[in-house]
Amino acid sequence: MSNENIECDYCPSCNKKSLRVTNIVISIPYFGEVIDFTILCNSCGYKRSDIMPIEIKEPTRYSFHIESACDISTRIIKSSTCTIRIPDLGITIEPGPLSEGYISNLEGLLQRISNVINMGMRMGKDEERKNGQELIDRITKLIEGQEKVCVIFEDPLGYSAIASDKAIIESLSEEEIKNLKFGESPFEIKRDNC
Ligand SMILES: [Zn+2]
Repeated sequence: MSNENIECDYCPSCNKKSLRVTNIVISIPYFGEVIDFTILCNSCGYKRSDIMPIEIKEPTRYSFHIESACDISTRIIKSSTCTIRIPDLGITIEPGPLSEGYISNLEGLLQRISNVINMGMRMGKDEERKNGQELIDRITKLIEGQEKVCVIFEDPLGYSAIASDKAIIESLSEEEIKNLKFGESPFEIKRDNC
């Protein structure tokens, strides 16, 4: 089901030929085959990862209602170009230069969001700490199946998905694509070379 391919390349950070590029192809139900890339420089420690579907995809919005603890194990494919929205929690995560792509499940995504809020809280003032803690408590309840929210993935390249037959899939309009941020993937150049 998966085959691993490793090659060496020049590091974009230190320019030495010590960059280890690992590609693994993973088959995801309701989405198709996805290449999971990781690059790691043995010399300076530069590391990035991203994912990319093998098939060409359309700009897409996935909406998924988390209604029970079972829904939390739903697979997600989150690329570096994905905007994540959880309107019920007031959360929007837009792609930035350090955005990474990964395959996980909704629980893994929520844990990552909790960790980011936690890090922000350490630097924040009392008020921000209080709000952050409230949000983390709600996320914990959500993971335990005691809260219901809608999670939305919008990807102008269509690389991201919430892999479930329960997900609502819609095409993004040109206007909607214009309003999305893109992020910078170190792997996009790779595809052009293929
Ligand atoms: Zn390096």
